[in-house]
Amino acid sequence: MKTVLITGSSSGIGRSIAKRLNNKYNIVINYNKHKKQAIDLLLELRKSNPNVIAIKADVSNELEVNNMFEIAEKNFSNVDILVNNAGISHYSLVQETNYSDFKRVIETNLNSVFLCSKRAIPNMINNRYGVIINISSIWANGASMESAYSASKGAINSFTKSLAKELCYENIRVNAISPGVVNTEMMNRDFNEEEKEYIKSQIPFNRFASPDEIASLLEYLISDDASYITGEIININGGFSA
Ligand code: NAD
Repeated sequence: MKTVLITGSSSGIGRSIAKRLNNKYNIVINYNKHKKQAIDLLLELRKSNPNVIAIKADVSNELEVNNMFEIAEKNFSNVDILVNNAGISHYSLVQETNYSDFKRVIETNLNSVFLCSKRAIPNMINNRYGVIINISSIWANGASMESAYSASKGAINSFTKSLAKELCYENIRVNAISPGVVNTEMMNRDFNEEEKEYIKSQIPFNRFASPDEIASLLEYLISDDASYITGEIININGGFSA
């Protein structure tokens, strides 16, 4: 069975991905601060699949990333599929954004993608097999009040395309999923009910995506059914455009 490591998978989209892939893959759950949520998920998945582990790591920290991969490889010998999902949002005008907040968003959303990919790639090359999926966002196109977040996601898109070009000779596919608005804690934390209704009214489908709809696309993209797809930023947004 192949092994998939999903960063930031104690909640939201990552959690749905872990649930959807359970029993079909060995699962590595990664969490940083939400230990209880991660352990609850671990216990739920283990009811039907013994091949699930949960590892604490701040994915913006190189030592912790390397340690996470060592533990994953000790358990499952290899990480075949990497899902760079962990991310944080931040809302403020540029002139009101603290430099420390700007750096935290870039380190969490973008540097983590570099660190996890860098650590995963050598084994993938040895095995002549690998899949990397980066979770981008519709706001990669630029969003008012979200300059740090948008910059991090825009950079993820160009990183995805560059990495795909580097790795296409090694049978390693690299793609990004670019969701519109997804019904997760990130949305609930950042917007009140009135704001959410307004955003929904701007979306042709008049609703947010469920996290499982993102997981469904991801399941296809990591499968061999998507064997000819690499270097793509795949939109999934209910007709919403930025
Ligand atoms: P979420 O807040 O539920 O999930 C993000 C996860 O990342 C959390 O579990 C969080 O603890 C984890 N995380 C944050 N910093 C971390 C770190 N340093 N190390 C390890 N884990 C860390 O929100 P979500 O909506 O599920 O977000 C998942 C991804 O989807 C993010 O990259 C987000 O930018 C992206 N996204 C979300 C939406 C949306 O509307 N919800 C839209 C487009 C893209």
